[in-house]
Amino acid sequence: MTMNKFRSLFSNPFKKGTKLYSIFKLKCPKCHEGDLFLNKNPYNLKDLDKMPKRCVVCGEDFYRETGFYYGAMMISHATTTLIAVIVHLTVFHFYGWAIAPNLISLLTILIFSFPLVFRSSRAIWLNVFVKYDPTKK
Ligand SMILES: [Zn+2]
Repeated sequence: MTMNKFRSLFSNPFKKGTKLYSIFKLKCPKCHEGDLFLNKNPYNLKDLDKMPKRCVVCGEDFYRETGFYYGAMMISHATTTLIAVIVHLTVFHFYGWAIAPNLISLLTILIFSFPLVFRSSRAIWLNVFVKYDPTKK
């Protein structure tokens, strides 16, 4: 990693060309132009998991092999666990171990964050295997 690239990571970690850009904007990890999902609204649950077979801009294969996105479930599991720990610690701070506030806040937050966790987990998983290539457009 060159010094300039190292520095640019700190100036704007969400800049185009970084993995975070691809993950948070749900863009193709290869070209950072094409969308990973057909419907941009994650709360349209009918289209939640609908992805194009290939990137419409660079042709990157989004379904690399059968069952490719099973790996994304591990990421989803880890993210959900992290959210649960944060929610429990926050609720514990205000209410202690009372069951009702813990369960209600946890269920509400997990239900509403599920589409976001689901999609970002797929983006993270795809980013593990695909590198950004600015020449692909
Ligand atoms: Zn692409």
